[in-house]
Amino acid sequence: MDYSKLPVFAEAEIVVCGGGTAGAFAAKAAADMGKDVLIVEQFGSLGGTATNGLVLPIMHTHIPENPQCSYISAIVRDKLRELGAEYNNGANFDPLVLKSVLETMCDESGVRILLHTFIAETIVNDGKLEAIVVANKNGLGLIKGKIFIDGTGDGDVCVRAGAGYTKGNPETGKNQPISLRYLVANVDIHAFGNFILETIEKTGKNSGASYDGKDNLYVAVCAGSHWTFADIFDEAIANGDLIDDDKNYWQGFMVAGRDNAIAFNNPEFFDDVDGTDPEHLTKTQIQGKQRIIRQLKFYKKYFKGFENAYLAEIASMVGIRESRNIETEYVLSASDLLRRVKFDDMFCQSNYPVDIHGKTLHFEGNLAPVDDGKPWYEIPYRSLVVKGIDNLYITGRCLGAEFLAQSSLRVQHSCRASGEAAGIGAALALDRNVLPRDINGAEVRNIMIEKGAQFVL
Ligand SMILES: Cc1cc2nc3c(=O)[nH]c(=O)nc-3n(C[C@H](O)[C@H](O)[C@H](O)COP(=O)(O)OP(=O)(O)OC[C@H]3O[C@@H](n4cnc5c(N)ncnc54)[C@H](O)[C@@H]3O)c2cc1C
Repeated sequence: MDYSKLPVFAEAEIVVCGGGTAGAFAAKAAADMGKDVLIVEQFGSLGGTATNGLVLPIMHTHIPENPQCSYISAIVRDKLRELGAEYNNGANFDPLVLKSVLETMCDESGVRILLHTFIAETIVNDGKLEAIVVANKNGLGLIKGKIFIDGTGDGDVCVRAGAGYTKGNPETGKNQPISLRYLVANVDIHAFGNFILETIEKTGKNSGASYDGKDNLYVAVCAGSHWTFADIFDEAIANGDLIDDDKNYWQGFMVAGRDNAIAFNNPEFFDDVDGTDPEHLTKTQIQGKQRIIRQLKFYKKYFKGFENAYLAEIASMVGIRESRNIETEYVLSASDLLRRVKFDDMFCQSNYPVDIHGKTLHFEGNLAPVDDGKPWYEIPYRSLVVKGIDNLYITGRCLGAEFLAQSSLRVQHSCRASGEAAGIGAALALDRNVLPRDINGAEVRNIMIEKGAQFVL
């Protein structure tokens, strides 16, 4: 089909494709550099996995200073704070409030936001992305741009434009498990917290359960019997109130600004986990809700504090940990991450563990010591520059990285930094009339620092 005859719906200097964490940060960063930016998103709000997927909190970098490699993070934190919707320096947030915060932030920076618009195809000529083909209530149309930033989380634009990619665990071929997250409200936190403490005392097991007596509680169960709540889950499974998989990665914690709510990071699915397969997405979304209803019944029957609890929100977006990773000018390897290699053009530092979910969780924080006394890894700017297409960046969880490296850098800290770096890089490339690959990543980082981003230097 000749898409070039389609009507042009919009044009911008920089088109950000997908309005998740990376996309929203990319759009603001580019607009702050004085560029005309349009962000295109399929759903009804910005934030993606962090908002519509209900994914919180932002993971700590596991570097003692916890450097926020993003100046926009502080802006988002302050806006959330004004609304009473964050704590822990913005790491814990209300995902529904974050939607509005990201949209307001982009709007105030002059970003044009186009929601309810799905990106289905691209037009590429001579290695240059000319336009994306979108579908919305106006039918099919084109959005043209000079530079494009793919923030779809799955690299949709890159793949449609012909970029190379890898996908899944090289040992099994499978993607990381999918989860459908949800919020339960009207929980008597004090009663549940005391129940946690009683269960620790009764079982003598102190793994994955804590309550500070006030407003901070955490619960988790995974493979193995050492978890505080493992026996309760086993009893419920024996009684037919739960299935085995309900026990395999279950996690709950408090939500900023919601005194009586708990956010659950489950149920988790181990099959049908291809986030780019609509059948898999549909299946996990529908079966996920069925499991959530079962889990709520379980809480009411087996826990104290859930007597009057109800579902406040089920994620409208299935939680995809990993789908595609795009081939870029430099692909961050597993070895780079494990050896904590440093890069001159780095835009992000982190020491977040290797975090591969599955029936057996591979969570590995104690990596080998490093020679340089700097126990963190870095992500280079070149891993944002898509190979083979001149004017296209990839950001977020699907930037250029091998599977094991992606299992760590997929967290929101790095996604934010990647968006910010791509937005600044794109603006510099336009200013100088050069290609993204010709921009020096160290310069991008320096601009991030000038604007307030933190690095351990
Ligand atoms: C279950 C789960 C738990 C997690 N737990 C944590 C955690 O505790 N802490 C942490 O820091 N990180 C966690 N992560 C990782 C982190 O949340 C994500 O990797 C990160 O939010 C992804 O951001 P992103 O911008 O790359 O993608 P997304 O936020 O997914 O954004 C992609 C955006 O693009 C849009 N889009 C996609 N395709 C198209 C298209 N074709 N057309 C138009 N729009 C499109 C989507 O609707 C979405 O808005 C978790 C992830 C999952 C799935």
